Amino acid sequence: MSLAQGRFTWPARGAGAREILRWGIEEFGRGMAICTSFQATGSVIIDMAAKLAGPAITVFSIDTGRLHEETYRLIAAFRKRYGIVVEMVPPDADELGSMLTLFGPNLFYETPAKRKACCEIRKVRPLKRRLATLEAWVTGLRRDQDRGRGGIEAVSIDEEHGGIVKLAPLAGWTQRQVLAYASEHDVPLHPLYSMGYGSIGCQPCTRAIAPGEASRAGRWWWESDADKECGMHMSAGGRMRRDVDLLLEQVLPARQPFAV
Ligand code: SF4
Repeated sequence: MSLAQGRFTWPARGAGAREILRWGIEEFGRGMAICTSFQATGSVIIDMAAKLAGPAITVFSIDTGRLHEETYRLIAAFRKRYGIVVEMVPPDADELGSMLTLFGPNLFYETPAKRKACCEIRKVRPLKRRLATLEAWVTGLRRDQDRGRGGIEAVSIDEEHGGIVKLAPLAGWTQRQVLAYASEHDVPLHPLYSMGYGSIGCQPCTRAIAPGEASRAGRWWWESDADKECGMHMSAGGRMRRDVDLLLEQVLPARQPFAV
């Protein structure tokens, strides 16, 4: 049994997004943080949370160092509009330097394993470090985003991240509902949506999609047969994972010569 289980009363079954967020804010206070990459769902969650709890909400974003300039401008707009602090969580400088020296800055185009190693160093490990300081976190995951996300619960225990509580308050929403909320509440939306992007991540790994394509088809588009999940919500196991581990074994010990 995880540490989180049995310590609180869970929100009512069928609770709506606002009720789930309110529950999280009241239950965990500063021990809960919203993790967002400033896609539409995360933007709507920030709007809801700011209206419930004001500018004191904790919001963080994984700053891979390869984000679109438009994302950085949108973050500035959110800081101004809601008066919130957006904590930027960077990769470990030594790990990043080691990876770039060993495999080059654009390693992600070479093999799926190298792409996943880049995601591991720039996203997964920084996320794990930040989540290790929290009791609960909020994500913008929705069931309709990808086939692999069909089982996402609105509230769950995140065993991958130490048994903390994971809230996905918009898990059951569709993209249409998200955009309708954003329009009704005048929530700033990422400008790349209007340029044909369906899902927005790092600049070199994201492109616009054609009409009718799945929203995440523009992520790692060159990996036609590979698993496209970035690993932040992926369970361990499988050959690809082992290939990544082999690369990471090279990257992580190699950081020692760079240590001061
Ligand atoms: S999305 Fe691309 S640039 Fe960003 S962390 Fe993953 S591989 Fe690296």
